[in-house]
Amino acid sequence: MQFDVQLLLLALAPLFLGCVAWEVLYWHRQGRKDIYSWRDSLCNAGLALLHQASDKLAWLLVLPLYGWLYREHRLFEIQTSWLAFGGLFLGQDFLYYWFHRASHRVRWLWAAHSVHHSSTRMNFSTAFRQSLMYPLAGMWAFWLPLAWLGFPPQQVIGVVLLNLAFQFFVHTQALPKLGWLEYVFNTPSIHRSHHARNPCYIDRNYAGVLCIWDRLFGSFVAEHDDEPCDYGTVKPVNSVNPLWVSLVEWRDMLRETWQARSWRERLVLLLGPPEAAAVISARNTSATPHTPRS
Ligand SMILES: [Zn+2]
Ligand SMILES: [Zn+2]
Repeated sequence: MQFDVQLLLLALAPLFLGCVAWEVLYWHRQGRKDIYSWRDSLCNAGLALLHQASDKLAWLLVLPLYGWLYREHRLFEIQTSWLAFGGLFLGQDFLYYWFHRASHRVRWLWAAHSVHHSSTRMNFSTAFRQSLMYPLAGMWAFWLPLAWLGFPPQQVIGVVLLNLAFQFFVHTQALPKLGWLEYVFNTPSIHRSHHARNPCYIDRNYAGVLCIWDRLFGSFVAEHDDEPCDYGTVKPVNSVNPLWVSLVEWRDMLRETWQARSWRERLVLLLGPPEAAAVISARNTSATPHTPRS
């Protein structure tokens, strides 16, 4: 019987839940009851289920496109081997870096990705916090070059899910810096700073598995001992309703774009960096209609 690669995350669920249980116990013994909140973690679990459903549906819809690109237009004949797997893994991790960087710098993608960052807590359950809106944002399009190069679509899906599975383990405050691994891999310390909204950490460390891309493209920052991470987004969501958390940024983005004063503003509100969109939004909402003095 062939293993359906799309079930990878589901198959690993017992391991993930075991880690959450260990971490809850660990922080309880340390007297740090602030690390976990049941409401926050239940919201994260709800978000994971919604994301799984929308992700499966998205793959059903886009697999024909992947298949067509692979069958009709692939550039190379790549035989299945460990070397080919290494190339696929490296290529997907490189594309993940750019997907993640774009997800922080392009508001349309941020509307989906902000869900992952909107909790003010950081623990293993934060990794479950994913958006059901990723398919609409267009996450699936970032891996198309891999099928075009000549990697079979099922292998592409497998490696995308492996990357996501690895990232579960970097969502914890229970592990310190990990020595030489910090130079090569995304680690809990590196990813903690990624989730922080302190000005010195914001929009840094976009790594999936390897942090070499951050070091190469100038987006790396190390966690400082004298600058504790302040987790969450600059614009707080303040809700534990998974549907509200998933949709609120889309609502804001569409409403602000509808109320914009020019096409240039609309372009920035949809495709500009989130902070530029916030400036326009603040200007447009604070502006009062001109009333002539009598
Ligand atoms: Zn991020
Ligand atoms: Zn994360």
